[in-house]
Amino acid sequence: MIMENRRNKKIAWMVLGILVCINTVAWAVVKSVSTDHNLEVVFFDVGQGDSIFIETSDGFQVLIDGGPGLAVLEKLGEEMAFYDREIDLIILTHPEHDHMFGLLEVLKRYEIKNILWTGIIRDTAEWKEWKRLIEEEGANILIAETGQKIVLSENIYLSILYPFESLEGQETKYTNDTSIVAELIFNNVSFLFTGDISKKIEKQLVDEYIDLESDILKIAHHGSKTSSCLEFLEVVSPELVVISVGENRWGHPHPETLANLEKFGIQVLTTRNYGDIKIVSNGNSFNIK
Ligand SMILES: [Zn+2]
Repeated sequence: MIMENRRNKKIAWMVLGILVCINTVAWAVVKSVSTDHNLEVVFFDVGQGDSIFIETSDGFQVLIDGGPGLAVLEKLGEEMAFYDREIDLIILTHPEHDHMFGLLEVLKRYEIKNILWTGIIRDTAEWKEWKRLIEEEGANILIAETGQKIVLSENIYLSILYPFESLEGQETKYTNDTSIVAELIFNNVSFLFTGDISKKIEKQLVDEYIDLESDILKIAHHGSKTSSCLEFLEVVSPELVVISVGENRWGHPHPETLANLEKFGIQVLTTRNYGDIKIVSNGNSFNIK
């Protein structure tokens, strides 16, 4: 009996040992997955317009603007699995054709959970189509306003910096200066998205915020000379600037803007020259793919 008890104890210890080993391996796997936690931001080459896709490693997807055509659909097809027909959040920075048109098509083809926009009114057929589609979509609709924080994943969030107050129900012909400005923050790395704001709004942002510093800046209004004032570039102090631009008759990006960026020694990538620009970050640094 004593012998048998000893043997049982030995077996029990062996089982316990094996369980401890399995547990250690399991934790090592969990740890390696969690250190892989990252963020991808893709500036789609959609011609003369903006369209930016954000995805966290746990699958939260955001689309900021849709560009002027159908290119966004093909781009989403490249980034998303073929069976994935759902986008967590779409953001319309402002209701201009080069930002909005592609989103209309995305609304028709994907299931959208949340929609963030300014609620500003324009008297255009495209705007009416947008309004109809978002009402039909059944998504949660958020009106952008300073101070909002949208959590995408652990330690990854979007902070809304502008408009300073809700613009819902207001009507304007020129919506560039109503563009949503948002900062995407992942630990020590941040992206600043500026829509098509002009120097006037950039200066207001400089006055309003103590800390606007960002690693990557999506330059406002496709590199137009009416945006990107020196004060703003100096305060944001980006390491990298992305200019979303295609063939156009306005001369975007303007040589003056490019010269200013060069003056500050900022690296510049344009979608016209590089195609889709994918940036991957682990929260401490970023890589351009
Ligand atoms: Zn634009």
